[in-house]
Formats: sequence, structure tokens, C-alpha cells
Amino acid sequence: MEFEHRISVLGSTGSIGTQTLEIAREYKGISIEAMSAHSNIDLLEKQAREFTPKLVCVTDEEKAKDLKIKLADTDIKVVAGKDGLDEAATADGAKTVVTAVVGISGLEPTIEAIKAKKNIALANKETLVTGGHIVMNLAKENGVSILPVDSEHSAIFQSLQGCRDRKEIKNILLTASGGPFFGKKRGEVENITPAAALNHPNWNMGAKVTIDSSTLVNKGLEVIEAKWLFGTENIKVLVHRQSVVHSMVEFTDNSVIAQMGAPDMRLPIQYALTYPNRLPMKNNELDLLKYGALTFEEPDTDTFFALRLAFEALRNGGIKPTVFNSADEAAVDLFLKGKISYLEISEAVARAMSTVKNIENPTVSDIFETDRLSREIVYGLKGRA
Ligand code: NDP
Ligand code: MG
Repeated sequence: MEFEHRISVLGSTGSIGTQTLEIAREYKGISIEAMSAHSNIDLLEKQAREFTPKLVCVTDEEKAKDLKIKLADTDIKVVAGKDGLDEAATADGAKTVVTAVVGISGLEPTIEAIKAKKNIALANKETLVTGGHIVMNLAKENGVSILPVDSEHSAIFQSLQGCRDRKEIKNILLTASGGPFFGKKRGEVENITPAAALNHPNWNMGAKVTIDSSTLVNKGLEVIEAKWLFGTENIKVLVHRQSVVHSMVEFTDNSVIAQMGAPDMRLPIQYALTYPNRLPMKNNELDLLKYGALTFEEPDTDTFFALRLAFEALRNGGIKPTVFNSADEAAVDLFLKGKISYLEISEAVARAMSTVKNIENPTVSDIFETDRLSREIVYGLKGRA
């Protein structure tokens, strides 16, 4: 099939970013208008030379200067910092922006991309967790699509392809691998090290999302992401150790539609880029016989109590999901630096959530003010790292 699509990739050096570029390498019709990294300029230089975008952004301003020198023999424009990221998000020519930066830094460039009438292939779940009410309305106003890249949300989106009325959704059944510590009780996870938590059984992801998967914070973020994407709070989490059923939708007649596939992020990334079409993909066949059985279990929200906090944030709405996310970003940073223990990640999130007062319908500046405040509370627990 002839296929042409011009895209920009924010966070091209990360796990999702590099897999997006793998797809672009496979399908020459996908071309890259702009790309960004935070500080990994060696990889960004290689990517820029291979994909020849018009513009690259390095959010670390010092590193941007170095990349400018490295790319001096090319026509590629190098921009820097937050403004540079907005420039990459709105670069002329791109029809879709893949948002694959990590953390709340995804919110503002996504808003700018939508205002510039770009479709969003959304990997950065923090965008919807913190600013879902703003982003979804803005997308509607500007007539652009938000296409999920997160595997669970892609599965739900695919399961909804035959659904003409969202009122027919009874429940979203969000699957979770359970992470590397599934089955362990509180006493057994107390002394978990960063190295152990960084070792995910089924998926190879960036550091923050890997830690978040092990604490079920990631699943909590995904519950809130699903609310904004699919317009319902009827969401249940099922632990599914094999990561084959990527999520399901239960309809009012109790029919359940699921999407299955090998645990390979290239599939949801590619679907977001080619929707409504499907293109062939190499090396990702699902061999169900290899699995034999697929299992579903309740999550343990006593040990992994961050998931309970996420449902609390979902129900309270307003600024609480931002507190949940930002406190976790700071707590994961402290955990990776060896400053707090594993259980203290979720305890820090709980502390921040009970300390920060809610704000209904927060503005972007409320969100960033709360982000700062939530981080301060968490760093205040152990001293800034
Ligand atoms: P990675 O940590 O692998 O990559 C993050 C990317 O963002 C890198 O390009 C990094 O640049 C850049 N970056 C880091 N810090 C900043 C910053 N402060 N400002 C701007 N850019 C920054 O993350 P992942 O690819 O794993 O995840 C990206 C997003 O996708 C997250 O929101 C995650 O939740 C979501 N997601 C990831 C999945 C996965 O399988 N990995 C699955 C589903 C969703 P540099 O390399 O220079 O540091
Ligand atoms: Mg996911």
C-alpha cells in the first residue's frame, strides 16, 4: 500500500521514540519533520543524519549548543529549551506529532501542537492525567484526533472500532502485567532496590515508566488517561501476567471485546500512525500456543496501594491527578538515587495528595504551580537530591 505521512517525534531518543523511528525506517512513506531529545545528543545526531528532519530540539540548553556544532555541516536547524520543544511540536509540514517525552514536560508542547492543528499520537500519558480537561476540549475545538500509543489504550480504541455510541460501554477492563513483584506482600517489597525494580518481565521501557509499572502507579495513570480518552469512569483493572490481552471493553449487553497481540510497542505505535489502515509488521506474530493459558486476577491494592490513590484522584478530579503524577515523578527520582525506599514512593504520593488542596477545573498555570508544590512536598521529605 502506498502510504505517506509526515510526523514529528518529541522524545525521539527514548524507548517509544526509537521504536517510532524503527517504523519510519521500515515504511519510507513516513518522514520526519522534527525530533527532540533532552540531553542524549549523540543518538539525536545519528537520528538526525539518518532521517534528515528540518529541525531538532535539545531541551538541555548547553547540550543544544554542542549539537549545533556537530550538525554544522547540515541544513538541520537546532533549537533549544522549552520554546524549542514548542517549535518542534508545531513545525510546518508535520500532520501528526508523536508525544514520547517523559513526564509533565509533555503537556505544553502537546497543547501547542493541537493549536497548530496537528493530530497527536499520544504516548505521554502525563499530558492527559494533568491536563485532560484542557487537551480534550482543545482537540475538539481544533478538529484534531488524539490517537493512543499506550498499548492498553490502543487496545481499547481498537476494541471500540465497531461502537457507534459510547453510551454502550459498560466497563473498560484495563489489563496490567502486575510487574516484577506481583504476588509479594508489603513486608517482601520493603527492601527492593532500583536495579530489581528496573527489571520488567514483559516490556522494555524507559526508567520512570518501568518503576511506575512495578508500583502500579503506571496503571493508575492509565486509568485516568482512559477516562479522558474514552469518556467514562467505569474502569476496572485486571492483572494479566502474560501481557497478551492488551485491554478490553465490556458493553451493555455484556459482550466483551479484547485486542490481543505480542507484547511489542511497535504495534500500537504503528496503528496510531496508520489508523484507520493496518500495515504488515515483521517479527511480532502472536503465537497463542506458546502461552497455552491466559489468566486474570485482582490487583493487590494493599501492597501496591498507589493504585487506590489513583482511583481516589480519578474520583476527586480537579488538580488531584496532577498531584498524584508530580509527587510520583519526584519520588521515583529520589528512589532511583537511593534516597528513599520502594514503599516510600507510594507513601510520598499519599502524603502529597492529602496535603495539597483541590482546585476545580485547573488552568495550565495552576497545573504547573501544583507540580512545583507537589515536588517540593516530596523532596522536603528527604532533602533535595
Ligand atoms: P524514555 O525515558 O525512554 O524517553 C524519554 C524521552 O524524553 C527521551 O527522548 C528523553 O531524552 C526525553 N526527555 C527526558 N526528559 C525530558 C524533559 N525534561 N523534557 C523533554 N524531553 C525529555 O521514556 P519512554 O519512551 O519509556 O516513555 C515516554 C512516554 O511514553 C512516557 O510518558 C511513558 O509513560 C509513555 N509510554 C511509554 C511506554 C513504553 O513502552 N516505553 C508505553 C506506554 C507509554 P534523552 O534521551 O535525551 O534523555
Ligand atoms: Mg501501558
